[in-house]
This record gives sequence, C-alpha cells and structure tokens, in this order.
Amino acid sequence: MMFEKQRDLIVKYCNKMISTGLTRGTGGNVSIYSREDELVIISPSGIDYETMTTEDVVVIDLDGNVVEGSNRPSSEYGLHTVFYRNREDINSVVHAHPIYSSTLATLGMEIPSAYYLNAVCGGPNVRCAKYALNGTEELANNVFDAMKDRYVVLMANHGLVAGAKDIANAFNKAEEIELSAEIYYKAKLLGTPNIISDEGVQEMLVAFKKYSQVTTK
Ligand SMILES: [Zn+2]
Repeated sequence: MMFEKQRDLIVKYCNKMISTGLTRGTGGNVSIYSREDELVIISPSGIDYETMTTEDVVVIDLDGNVVEGSNRPSSEYGLHTVFYRNREDINSVVHAHPIYSSTLATLGMEIPSAYYLNAVCGGPNVRCAKYALNGTEELANNVFDAMKDRYVVLMANHGLVAGAKDIANAFNKAEEIELSAEIYYKAKLLGTPNIISDEGVQEMLVAFKKYSQVTTK
C-alpha cells in the first residue's frame, strides 16, 4: 500500500476533527500532498470517521482520478487540489464545518484580529469566500482567491479551509481560527471588540516565524 504514514495521519486527523469539535458527522475532509509524486492522500467520501481505517483512505492525482483505493475520494477534493496546483507553501489542507467559523461565514463576515492568535491566518483578517455550490470548481476558485496571502479562509454558508506546509500545522490553524471566531462572536455579544492594528499583526507574524511551528508526530 502506498503512503502508509500519510494514510495514518489522515485517519488520525479525521478523528481529531470530531474529538475537538471542528466538525460533526462525516463533514469536512483532510489531505496531504506528496509534491514529488504529484499525488494527494485524501479522506474518502461519506465514511464514518470512527470506523475509518488506513485502507479507506484514497490516493488521487491532481485531477481527482483514483490512483489507489476502493472508495471514492471526498467530493470536495477540488478545495484541496486547487492549492496543491497553485501554492508551493501548502502541502496539507484541512476543511471542516466548525460552529463559530461557519456561523460568521453564514453572515458573510470575516474574522478580524480581535483574538491575537487570529494572526495564524497569515494576515490581519480571515476573509470569507463567496458562496458557490459544494463540490464545484467555482467554489474551489472562490476559496483559492479569498485565501490569497493567507493560510485560512471562511466559506460562505459552509465552513472553513486551512492549509499549511504539513497536516499538524494546517490542523492547528483551523483550531486556532475556530477559537478566534468563537471569541470574536462572544465579544460582539457583550460590546465592540478592540481590533489589533495591522502593524501589531505584522509584529506577531515576525515572532511566529521564530517560535510557533507545531510539529507532526
Ligand atoms: Zn464542506
């Protein structure tokens, strides 16, 4: 079987999406890109995360053709491959339907730098990509455009996408941005949140380069 290590990571992080509340049911999907092989290791479509095994994970090419595996790949694979084709800094994508991010996305809102770790998105705001039908190239392109110079983006009326150099960092960004969305939402209920300046965010991004990479185990 190809890519056993990556298959293990896909199963592990799919289960982690459920245990951390980043998604419910079979919502969301995760992938890892093997850039040297131009192949994507991705979660399958419609399989319960709790019973998913490494054999259930699917290997596809950048056009979505199955290279190894008996399941269909996630129907949202286009949200992953658009980044692997066009962003050399992204080798893993996590797509989830977390409550607070999805709530803000349903309002068409972006997430400003209210909570300081919002800066893990790579800039002063997490933008919200325009709505399009799930599973379409139009949606993948909207998400890609809205994630320019960023590592996380909201998807209108749907959820969140995070990308990074590896799956641990992509997952970490998804978790931090969901926490940021929750804090922003709750702060707005009590008053007007203070927003960190663009300069303040830039200072943090410089500091992150030195200190805050998570590592894959
Ligand atoms: Zn989705």
